[in-house]
Amino acid sequence: MREIIVTEPLFVSSFRCTGSACRDHCCKSWSISIDKKTVKKYTTSKNIQIKNIAHENIQLVKKNSQDWGVINFSPETGSCPYLDQDRLCLVQKNLGKEALSHTCSTFPRSNRTYKNEVHHSLTISCPEVVSILLNNPDAMGMTEKVNLQNDFNSAQPIQPKAKLLNLFCLSLMNAADASIEASLYAVIKFVMFIQKYDEITDSALTDIESAYLLLVAQLEDGTISRELGSLQVDYRVKTSLLLLLQDYFAKLETSRGTHVLNYYSDFLRLAISSNEDSPLENKVREIESRWVGVIQDDLTNQRFAFKNYILYKFWHNNFPNHSQRSMLQSLYLIIAEYYYIKIVSASYALGKGNIDTGHITNIIYSFHSISQHNQNVAENFYQHIETVRLGDDLSMIHLLA
Ligand code: SF4
Repeated sequence: MREIIVTEPLFVSSFRCTGSACRDHCCKSWSISIDKKTVKKYTTSKNIQIKNIAHENIQLVKKNSQDWGVINFSPETGSCPYLDQDRLCLVQKNLGKEALSHTCSTFPRSNRTYKNEVHHSLTISCPEVVSILLNNPDAMGMTEKVNLQNDFNSAQPIQPKAKLLNLFCLSLMNAADASIEASLYAVIKFVMFIQKYDEITDSALTDIESAYLLLVAQLEDGTISRELGSLQVDYRVKTSLLLLLQDYFAKLETSRGTHVLNYYSDFLRLAISSNEDSPLENKVREIESRWVGVIQDDLTNQRFAFKNYILYKFWHNNFPNHSQRSMLQSLYLIIAEYYYIKIVSASYALGKGNIDTGHITNIIYSFHSISQHNQNVAENFYQHIETVRLGDDLSMIHLLA
């Protein structure tokens, strides 16, 4: 027998789909690709209702065996045609869980599989997942267990360097009771330090550990926060990013989460379009100053919420390891997303007087539902954000200062 190490954060083990009670059911307003076997199963089903719905609503695309058909959702309700009046799935109800397509049976779960390891995660297009992250202080606590199976997985082994770097970045983010901005600034410094090593030899590891420990000490004694506070901020980076994202989302076709994100981003639109005589920079300053109140007052019992969000991004994206992006590029994207979510949340708090984790859950799940529904959408979105980087990997520091 072979030993497979399974690593799972607490938010994965504690997740339960809320089904018909979900605030924005995933069987709505987006397209679901289904595999060849499932298309055949539905179109030839002995259950007349399943069969008729399949013939009327499954559009054959035949791209490959995994992407054989697309379920057309109702133009009136935006719902999957297999969703019944009680918001329950007719396939699951009549044919059982095993008859669900790969997409339907796995969402929101996602695994990273290596030869002798598996890392579990969940996508945050699901509001329930976000809610756990924002409300459970231990949501990003890791558990590890060993499963026995006949053979190793048919995937590449995990690279020890990649695993180590991910662990260092997670630990640095979690190391001290510093602000998220200061912790992210420390991660930037750490990434700049480690990117000079092509491989982690024993002597490089000693240097990297020393750099890590120094950054932890500087986070704890406030050196990092003071350094970040003394930087000259270029507000062009902030305002360009906000305007670009507002424009990007406004031009996208309506999909699941659109109306929710629009509702919240309207508060940002209002905050930056009011008082025409005031420069945009001053308006962004005002929204940012409301953010301090969000963390100190509105989230007084959930100050861990956004730290959990960043830890999730590090874990889910296997940061800083990405085959097509540099470590600093990957970090820039995480920071840019965080900045937008933070400013939309602060704008809402400014307009309404306060904000709680229920509203922040709405902002985060709808943002990810729209921008990262699938790999192509996510890639397009990231290329868009990249245009604000002004060719400078370190422009992200301005989003933290
Ligand atoms: S979005 Fe999440 S909680 Fe809601 S129905 Fe889908 S899996 Fe369940």
